[in-house]
Formats: sequence, C-alpha cells, structure tokens
Amino acid sequence: MAIESLDLKKNEGVKEKDNSFSEFQEILKEAVDILNYPPQVFEFLKKPMRFLEVSIPIRMDNGQTEIFQGYRAQHNDAAGPTKGGIRFHPDVTPEDVKALAGWMSLKCGITDLPYGGAKGGIVCDPRKMSLDELERLSRGYVRAVSQIVGPTKDIPAPDMYTNSQIMAWMLDEYDHIREFDSPGFITGKPIALGGSKGRETATSKGVLYTLQMVCELKRIPLTDMRVIIQGFGNVGSYLAQYLYDLGAKVIGIGDALGGLYDENGLDIPYLLENRDSFGIITNRPTNRITNQELLEKECDILIPAAISGVINKQNGSRLNCNIVIEAANGPTTKEALKILDEREILVVPDILANSGGVIVSYFEWCQNNQGYYWTEETVDTRLKEKNNRQL
Ligand code: GLU
Repeated sequence: MAIESLDLKKNEGVKEKDNSFSEFQEILKEAVDILNYPPQVFEFLKKPMRFLEVSIPIRMDNGQTEIFQGYRAQHNDAAGPTKGGIRFHPDVTPEDVKALAGWMSLKCGITDLPYGGAKGGIVCDPRKMSLDELERLSRGYVRAVSQIVGPTKDIPAPDMYTNSQIMAWMLDEYDHIREFDSPGFITGKPIALGGSKGRETATSKGVLYTLQMVCELKRIPLTDMRVIIQGFGNVGSYLAQYLYDLGAKVIGIGDALGGLYDENGLDIPYLLENRDSFGIITNRPTNRITNQELLEKECDILIPAAISGVINKQNGSRLNCNIVIEAANGPTTKEALKILDEREILVVPDILANSGGVIVSYFEWCQNNQGYYWTEETVDTRLKEKNNRQL
C-alpha cells in the first residue's frame, strides 16, 4: 500500500466520539471534591487560562495556498511556565487540545516539575505532506503563536506525529523572530541545537520503569509477562525493543494500519528493521489483524501507545488482560475506566505512566538554562529516580 493512501482517521483504532474535554472536567471535579477544595478551584481549572486559535496560510508544493487551523491551550501557570507538546493530526480539535493541556498540568504536578500544562495542535495529515510543506507549516505555526510562547512563558515539545526535525524548524523560526538564540524555547530538539541526550527514548523508558515497578508490586517477573503494545511510533517501538531485550514476550504490536499477533512472541528486531519512516510494519505481512482485534487478544499487559479513546465502552468488557498501562495520552475513556475497575483490571494512568517525556524535556530546559550538558547516563539515572518516586 502506498504511503500516500494511508488514511490516519480510519485505521488507528476505534476512537469513540470525542468527549475528552468534558471527561477531563468530570474527573477534575471528582478530584477537587475528594480533596475538599473550594468550588472556585474547579471553576478556575476546568478551562485553560488561555486558548489561542490561529489560521495558518501555507503555500503547497503545487502552488496553491491552503489554510490550516492551529491551536495552543495554556491550562495554568501557577507552578511555572506552561509546558506541552504540539501534535499534527487530522483529528485534532480545540476540545482535545484543551483537555490535553489540563492533563499536562496534572502530569507536571504529579512529577513535581516547575511547570503548568499546555498543548498545541495543527489539523493536518503529515503523511500526505512533503518535507517542504511540513517545514512551512511548522514555521507558520510559530509565527502565529509567537506572542504567547517563550522559554519563560510556554515551552512546546513533540507530540503525536511531530519530531526533533519539526522542533528544529520551530526553534529556528522563533530565534529569527526574537533575534537571539533561545534554545530553551522548545524541547525535544536535535542534540546539535541544544537537545538533551536521552530525550528521544525518554517516554518509552519512563513506561518501562513504570512497568518494572508494577511487576515488583505484583511480584511477577517481567520475563513472565506477555505484552501487547498498540502503537509502533516513537514510544511503542523503543518500548518493544527494551522489553524484547529484557526477555519479556511481546506477543502483539499495532500500527496505524492494523496489528500483528503471535502468541509465541514477535521478532521485534526484524520488525524494527522493516518498518517504514512512519513506523508502519503491517503493510506487508498477510496475517494482519485489525487494531480492534489486537486490543481484545489475551495478554498480561496491554499498553495502548497510540491515540486517545481506543479503550471505550464498546470494547471495555472484552479486553483480555490483567493490567493496562497508558503510554498514550487518554487511551481509556471514563466509561471504560469504570468497566475495567469492576473487572479488577489495573489501569496505570497516562499522567503517571508516560511522564518520562516531559521529565526529560524539563532536564533539557535546565541544561539550556545552564549551558551545561549532561551525559546520557546522568539523564537516565535522574529520569529513573524522578519516574519511580511517583509510585
Ligand atoms: N508530548 C509529551 C507529553 O504529552 C511531552 C511533552 C513535553 O515534553 O513537554 O507528555
């Protein structure tokens, strides 16, 4: 299948109708009530403190101009500048971005980082765009939001379908506007431009450390675990490699087109060798199953590492696992959480399980502020320390 014909909307899973923002508000309300905080706390935190919607005109390679919609939500800056990624995806909505910014506040809080939460997004399908078009879009977005972002205001980072190259274009554009070098404006950038060693693998390592802690708590050796990972992008692919290297059985993998399953364990090094630049591994094998089927296969640990809402009221009662570790942001809907709770399936929430990315983003920002760069070993040791302190 040609990469151009991929339809991101149809294949990645079985995302339900998007209730992400109202779900964020409902869960926040429950938490604020349990903590006995005054009602104003909820009233203030239920919406982002600032939300910007921008139209970005981009000249496409065919000479036509297209207008892209972009968003940036800054949830709350009481703890410090706001922080959070920018995603490129056809499904991005203002509601999604607002909810994700709120979750970032909680993620930064739980990991004790001096940040509030933010999130950005552009409605686009990066797989259908050339590199030149992506560069123009990345730069256009920064021009559009430049007044509200900055190293002491709001610090972006990668998220779904954005990477260090996109961060490099964004940083370059920001430096041109501000007329001085400010590497601390954005994290997840290439090492040559002030990025941190270990940032690329940080989220997957954080998920791995969390998984190891869960195994310790449950007193089950990791090598006895059969794991399914839905998602083979930045997080899923490194995680699969680490688990394979440690001797755990990865019996299922999913990507944007579907899934692969083998109860005897998949050959992860072979799949990593043979994926394309979008992390697609299921475009060749004939034994491909759907993402829906993959999520319902029997395993010990299910790790959704792709889009939100894939575990929902439709499939919650059919999951066949003991533990869910949320590597993606918001993969389990509120209704599904209730079903899984009744079925005594342990769910390790995203704000805890996938915080490795923002933890090392924070380390990157500290290094930029100091102009003093750490070894990969130092980054790893500090990541593990911070990650495991939450559990
Ligand atoms: N996009 C990542 C997340 O959702 C990382 C954010 C960051 O590094 O600021 O946690």
